[in-house]
Amino acid sequence: MPSWACETCGAQFPEGAAPPASCPICEDERQFVNWKGQTFLTREALAQRCRLVWRDDLELTGISLEPSFAIGQRALLVPGADGCVMWDCVPLATPEAVDFVRSRGGLKAIAISHPHYYGALADWSEAFGGVPVYLHADDRAWVTRPHKAIVHWTGDRYAISDEILLLRTGGHFAGGTVLHCRGGANGKGALLTGDIAQVTMDRRFVSFMYSYPNYIPLNAAAVLRIADAVAPLAFDRIYGAWWGRNIAGGAKAAFEASVARYLAAIA
Ligand SMILES: [Zn+2]
Ligand SMILES: [Zn+2]
Repeated sequence: MPSWACETCGAQFPEGAAPPASCPICEDERQFVNWKGQTFLTREALAQRCRLVWRDDLELTGISLEPSFAIGQRALLVPGADGCVMWDCVPLATPEAVDFVRSRGGLKAIAISHPHYYGALADWSEAFGGVPVYLHADDRAWVTRPHKAIVHWTGDRYAISDEILLLRTGGHFAGGTVLHCRGGANGKGALLTGDIAQVTMDRRFVSFMYSYPNYIPLNAAAVLRIADAVAPLAFDRIYGAWWGRNIAGGAKAAFEASVARYLAAIA
């Protein structure tokens, strides 16, 4: 039986003879149902339509689908001595992409910022022997394809290693998570934010939203909570949600200025 991917958001669903009746991620007020109606693709049809590509994105390797699919998810490989952590995920895994990741040391874990990036997490985990997939427990209800590799972590911090720390910030989603890599950015520290803090088009600031496509801003309390979570960390770079949407240097000061600018704008 085929497994199914939502054509609008890229969420993967369990195997079944027929596609799901609806996609809860798309029906949520933070997303939208395709104007032509909800559609799903089998994994095989998606692999025929798109291939996976990888290239450098500010000294980390990014992976995404080409042509662009769903919301254009881009995953990043955070290298480590005992394998990479895949940060965020994409809606498809292919043998060629798995071989490429293996050539980079393989995966030891997957960690995802929020449900819009859950994608084909189960396929990626299985390709590397069932490595753990760290999702914050507060977003458990948004898992569209439950899987034994998923670790629903709780609280505000989870250390994958000495180098890699997950921080629950909330905001866009209750379990919204960012990843801090202590040795990233040549030892100055890197913060990988997905769209929990969205790098703006001028790449000098971040901004915050409850819903990006439907323009629902975050309130001051939620933004201050994100700022408090990030405050103790040292980092010089921020890696955002899309190709090239990164702040290459001075990111800690840029983050603080962004919080002040945002709060002033909604005051
Ligand atoms: Zn969807
Ligand atoms: Zn999102």
